[in-house]
Amino acid sequence: MRRNHQVSPDPDSRVHSTFNKSGSIIIGLISPMIGGVLTALSDHLQKEFGVPVENMDLFRDVSFAFNRRRNQYSSPKILKKLKAISKGFEDKLLGIVDVDLYCPDYDFVFGEADAGSGVATLSLYRLKQDTADSRLVSSRIIKEATHEVGHLFNLGHCEDPKCVMSFSVGNLSQIDAKSASVCLPCKSFVHISKARTIAN
Ligand SMILES: [Zn+2]
Ligand SMILES: [Zn+2]
Repeated sequence: MRRNHQVSPDPDSRVHSTFNKSGSIIIGLISPMIGGVLTALSDHLQKEFGVPVENMDLFRDVSFAFNRRRNQYSSPKILKKLKAISKGFEDKLLGIVDVDLYCPDYDFVFGEADAGSGVATLSLYRLKQDTADSRLVSSRIIKEATHEVGHLFNLGHCEDPKCVMSFSVGNLSQIDAKSASVCLPCKSFVHISKARTIAN
């Protein structure tokens, strides 16, 4: 069952109460998702990782992460806020933004994951570039969201260019060329890592 949690943007303690310890994937909406993608993404993540997927409205103001010099937003600062929100819970939280994200040492990033804390960011901003085809944009969002969630299941980058875990180095054509699914070796790694979590 999928729930759409409506929580006020502030205070974060109200957000806490909607988390649980079930190990679900939570799609945290910092920006609204492009029409229709949320359902397709939820279904896809559920199929790929075999856990429940829910979505939740989060804080909307990301001005705290703005870097005036770069005219971009700091992904690590947004990750830190997501970490504070999901602290103490087993759920994996993917925060969706629609601003240009950067990490130190990169011109920009599509997203970033902190597997140890179970939180990741994904930006729609650059995935919408170079095309007016909304289906192409939707597939990019699904692929990159799956990639970041894959990191939260302890997957690293994969050598198979078709695997969703292959590294796109900021390149939209590489994203368009890969599939939305994890390859078989990556999939079995996810199963092993989930079994280990349950055993612990
Ligand atoms: Zn990656
Ligand atoms: Zn792979």
